[in-house]
Amino acid sequence: KLYNQVQDLKGNIRVYCRVRPFLSGQPSHSSTVRDLEEGNISIINPAKYGKEGKKTFSFNKAFGPTATQAEVFSDTQPLIRSVLDGYNVCIFAYGQTGSGKTHTMSGPNDLTEETVGVNYRALRDLFLLSEQRKDTICYDISVQMLEIYNEQVRDLLATDGAANKRLEIRNSSQNGINVPDANLLPVSSTSDVINLMNLGHKNRAVSATAMNDRSSRSHSCLTVHIQGRDLTSGNIIRGSMHLVDLAGSERVDKSEVKGDRLKEAVHINKSLSALGDVISALAQKSSHVPYRNSKLTQLLQDSLGGQAKTLMFVHISPEHEALGETLSTLKFAERVS
Ligand code: ADP
Ligand code: MG
Repeated sequence: KLYNQVQDLKGNIRVYCRVRPFLSGQPSHSSTVRDLEEGNISIINPAKYGKEGKKTFSFNKAFGPTATQAEVFSDTQPLIRSVLDGYNVCIFAYGQTGSGKTHTMSGPNDLTEETVGVNYRALRDLFLLSEQRKDTICYDISVQMLEIYNEQVRDLLATDGAANKRLEIRNSSQNGINVPDANLLPVSSTSDVINLMNLGHKNRAVSATAMNDRSSRSHSCLTVHIQGRDLTSGNIIRGSMHLVDLAGSERVDKSEVKGDRLKEAVHINKSLSALGDVISALAQKSSHVPYRNSKLTQLLQDSLGGQAKTLMFVHISPEHEALGETLSTLKFAERVS
């Protein structure tokens, strides 16, 4: 029995790697990524790896620069479906700024049917499945959208100027971990969700004018709560899904930044390493999991570990200039898988 539990735990953390294509206008001959097959990727770094110049990393799945949003989602879908069966699921996008995190989770700026990301597809799937089950289970689906910036939690779905209010994370025996003062809004269609996502993006942009491109220096978390009532037995099923677009993982040279930028860098570093510590403790079945070290891991405590399922998308950029960050991203991925 214990053995099975341990096996389950390990099986509940998956790591996928996604390589961004070169952006238009960039030369494509200089990619640091050479071989991409069967969940492995090879990184070329002649300076570091000697004659062969190549180091290989393994993942549960690896997506190359030509992988489509639909392909990426089709390997994510089973996880999302388990939310309706009462599981808690966390999906993270990790990587340096510009490596494609937002592209994977939300999609590019000009959204089309083909280019929408995991968030939208996940919700569309939840609605579709709940509709298919409507004769046996009645589902309520509601959505929260939070931002963590400098270890402070904000409600991205706040209206009338309340978006800058700092919120507390609570832990109650009845509701588990929750943010009682953040809006939790019922949704019943993908268009409801798109409207809320637009509001969230707008709230995020408000602060971006004051501090340019804050989105790369904060974590955004779209949380979907589902509650299902079995129409025959009356039993209640609860599940949740956190879709997290993490702050950029690039290391900032602390001797070169001051003031706000230094503060941001310290907070990002702290929360990303806290996340790495938690997932790595879970992957190694450690008896102590250090959830308390950051707001992010506190917020997600209920949904990391135990029966919960975690998927980490690590993103890498193909450019030679990004090699240092690419290797540090891959090192992070090795730690958590
Ligand atoms: P991040 O959120 O990690 O900072 P973005 O998702 O904003 O990075 O990606 C940076 C740029 O690269 C954007 O213009 C985005 O549209 C583009 N991009 C990223 N990933 C892909 C991809 N897989 N295919 C095409 N364009 C991509
Ligand atoms: Mg982004």
